[in-house]
Amino acid sequence: MFDYLIVGAGFAGSVLAERLANQAGKRVLILDKRNHIGGNAYDCYNDDGILIHKYGPHIFHTNSERVFEYLTQFTEWRPYEHRVLASVEGKLLPIPINRTTVNLLYGKDLQTDAECQAFFDSVVEPREVCRTSEDVVVSKVGWDLYLKFFRGYTRKQWSLDPSELDAQVTARIPTRTCTDDRYFGDAFQAMPLHGYTRMFERMLSNPNIKIMLNTDYRDILTMIPYREMIFTGPVDQYFNYCYGKLPYRSLEFRHETLDVEQALPVAVVNYPNDHEYTRVTEFKQLTGQKHPKTGVVYEYPRAEGDPYYPIPKPECSALYQKYKELADATPNVHFVGRLATYKYYNMDQVVAQALATFEKMMGTKRERVVLPSAETSQPARPAAPVPTAVAAAGIAANGKTAPVNSNGAATMVSNGHASGATSKGSSAATTAVLDEDDDE
Ligand code: FAD
Ligand code: UDP
Repeated sequence: MFDYLIVGAGFAGSVLAERLANQAGKRVLILDKRNHIGGNAYDCYNDDGILIHKYGPHIFHTNSERVFEYLTQFTEWRPYEHRVLASVEGKLLPIPINRTTVNLLYGKDLQTDAECQAFFDSVVEPREVCRTSEDVVVSKVGWDLYLKFFRGYTRKQWSLDPSELDAQVTARIPTRTCTDDRYFGDAFQAMPLHGYTRMFERMLSNPNIKIMLNTDYRDILTMIPYREMIFTGPVDQYFNYCYGKLPYRSLEFRHETLDVEQALPVAVVNYPNDHEYTRVTEFKQLTGQKHPKTGVVYEYPRAEGDPYYPIPKPECSALYQKYKELADATPNVHFVGRLATYKYYNMDQVVAQALATFEKMMGTKRERVVLPSAETSQPARPAAPVPTAVAAAGIAANGKTAPVNSNGAATMVSNGHASGATSKGSSAATTAVLDEDDDE
């Protein structure tokens, strides 16, 4: 008899399997219908020996020291700060939009945050309430930058106009008046040194955790005795689509190996206005792998296929609420993760949600748990000073020291860019609060 049957071996399922086995001494069966662990964060070596992310680029970033420390038990880290260029009018320009973007696009020479803010002030379209993804962008940078960087990309990615999507979608991308060109402003930004899959293997290494792959839970449910279930697949699937299908956005990934050492100027190039794909990613720039060839992936948005993105818009949230009521009324089944709680969560948010669920299951849950935010419009500082050990060595697992940058300094913590974030507009992706009703 297993204490827990866990459906899905991604972050949600694996964190809970690890906690239940290592902290609570429970016997766990974790299964996945895919032929691997790691969920959408799975990485592997392709036929040419290049480490790739099968389901598109996964870059770890968080403002939660707790989440970072938790994962540090299972991996060493490679310091990495993500940078993205957008191909607009034949130029490759920094996205998030910053002062450099404005200068290069419009041939300006804005020298200070104040000058850049004055420019934004001259072009913004103020909105009383930022309800949609269009509101968020035009109220921060105006219509022209919105058209050039956001409208086309969003229509391609979601097959919806930004005016139909909740504010949280484009609010993931900050706007800056400084020249900070990092994609994320989080306090902790790093990649698992040996990849995500290796990290998941370590999480699931307790002999009390049994792993079953290539298995849809619906095929074995009656055969395996267990006390409670943790479900991390699509919530509508669990309830047999009784209220109809919840819409998810899918992607098709086209992976290629190119016979050059480096293909792109930065790890990711976005194409808001050209091509059928939204972005191209070069994995070696994320992983730091040295190899004479390079691996890239193109992402083609699709209506059909594996469910990758919940769709943040009012009708979908309303339908999800109906499933959530059913979920809440289902005893001994805990719904956790991006698909099971229909939330556009990053990896760190799913880890935080799973940790909170564990505490609640063990009766040790704090009243309200603050999930790490999705992107905020302000490059963030750590809430508390980062412990010296973290800053100096990236809290390397197993006592080893994480790699350092070319100056010999660990670059795990980067909080030197707090100035220069525009204060215009309000980010709908503010810190998510996980309360009694939100975590399972
Ligand atoms: P999943 O990883 O989806 O795991 C759920 C698992 O359940 C899957 O493996 C699935 O096969 C299994 N399952 C479903 N139904 C069944 C069934 N019936 N029987 C058995 N198994 C089943 N986050 C970041 O923080 N940074 C990034 O850069 C980033 N990039 C992303 C890029 C893309 C293209 C996508 C799609 C997501 C990205 N994310 C990123 C988000 C990240 O992937 C998720 O937050 C995280 O992987 C969610 O973990 P999960 O365990 O909730 O779900
Ligand atoms: N977005 C955009 N242009 C860009 C980058 C992002 O319009 O160059 C919008 C788009 O709607 C996208 C959303 O912002 O879906 C979130 O972007 P992010 O890079 O966070 O998407 P993810 O990595 O989750 O696919």
